[in-house]
Amino acid sequence: MADYVFQKEKIEELLGGMAKNYEVHAPLLNAGIVRFGKVEEGGPALAKLDDYSNSSVPPKELLFPQTETLFRYRLGTGGIEPKVPDAGAKVAVFGIRPCDAQAFAIVDKLFGWDYPDPYFQNRRKSTVLIGLACSSPCSTCFCTSLGGGPTNDEYLDVAMYDLGNEIYLKTVTEKGDELCKSISDLLEEASPSHLEACQNQSKEAASKIRRSIDTNGIPEKLPALYDNPFWEQFSDRCLGCGICTYLCPTCHCFDIQDEVEVFDGRRARMWDTCMFEEYTRHASGHNPRPTRKERTRNRVSHKYSYFPTNFGVIACVGCGRCIKYCPVNIDIIDILEKSIAVEVKEAG
Ligand code: SF4
Ligand code: SF4
Repeated sequence: MADYVFQKEKIEELLGGMAKNYEVHAPLLNAGIVRFGKVEEGGPALAKLDDYSNSSVPPKELLFPQTETLFRYRLGTGGIEPKVPDAGAKVAVFGIRPCDAQAFAIVDKLFGWDYPDPYFQNRRKSTVLIGLACSSPCSTCFCTSLGGGPTNDEYLDVAMYDLGNEIYLKTVTEKGDELCKSISDLLEEASPSHLEACQNQSKEAASKIRRSIDTNGIPEKLPALYDNPFWEQFSDRCLGCGICTYLCPTCHCFDIQDEVEVFDGRRARMWDTCMFEEYTRHASGHNPRPTRKERTRNRVSHKYSYFPTNFGVIACVGCGRCIKYCPVNIDIIDILEKSIAVEVKEAG
C-alpha cells in the first residue's frame, strides 16, 4: 500500500481530478448543516475539513437513501421497471469519518443476511471510502469503547490525516490504490516526517475521547430488564421524535409503500424508526410496543443485545449523534451505565 500528501489548498482540484472517474460525494455545508452530498458546480460548498467534527446526518444515506424507488410499474401491462443501482458505477466518498465507515460494516450484516439486498450491496461494491481521521473528536464521541478510534482505518479504502497545510493520504485496500493511481498527477510522495506527524495526531486524538462505556456484560444484562420499570426514567422525558434513530449510522429500519398514480406507480422504501408508535402497530390496532417505555427499551436492546445475539457485533459505533441531537438530552451511555447497576431479583 502507498502513502502520499497533497496541499490542502488544492483540495478542490483533487476532487475535480477524482470526478473524472468517480461520482464524488463529500461533506457539504448547507444552511449551517454538514451533510454528505454530490460535489457539483453551483451546489453547496465543501465543508471546511477543520470546521466540523462529524456530519450531522451520517453518510449511510449514500448507500441506504432516505427514500428509494425499488421499481416502477404500469397497471394493466404487467410492466415492471426495476431501479437496482449499477454495481459497476464508481462512487468516491471523500472525508467519511472512521466511525461511519465502521457503521457500514455493521449494516452490511443486515443487508447481506437472509436475503442479500441488491440495492445496498451494489452501491457498497461500487463505493470507495476515503476516510478522514478525527483530530478533534466531539465531547459526545465514545468510538474507542466500540472497537473503533478517531484514526482507525480498518473499514476504509484510503485513510487521510489533516496535517494543517497538507493532507496525508494512505491507501488501505486495492480499491483505494486504484483511486489514488487515477489522481497520481495531483499527489506527492509522503516522507517519514509525515508519518511521524500522523502517529502523533493519532495518540493525541485518542486522548481527547472524553466518554467511554465498558460494554462487557451489557448484551446479557439487557434481556433481564425487559419488564423492569428501569426504562421509565428515560422514556418519561422522550418526545418520540425519532432523531436518535434517523441520525444513527447503524439504524436501518425501513417501511415499504406503493404510490399509485392512475396507471402507473412506484414501490419505494423509506427510513422508518422504532421510536414511532405506528412502527409496530398491527392492522388489528394492537401494538406490542404501546408506549415510549417499550420503544426506548427496544432501541437500546436492539443495538446492544438483539443485534449482537444475531450477528455477533454491537450495532453502535459510539459516534455520539444520538446524545448530541436528542432534544431532551437522553444519553445512551447513561442508560447503559445504569442498566449495569440495576439489581435484578431472581424469579421465584
Ligand atoms: S446509537 Fe448513538 S452513538 Fe451509537 S452509533 Fe447510533 S447514534 Fe451513534
Ligand atoms: S432523540 Fe431523544 S426525544 Fe427524540 S426519540 Fe430519541 S430519545 Fe426520544
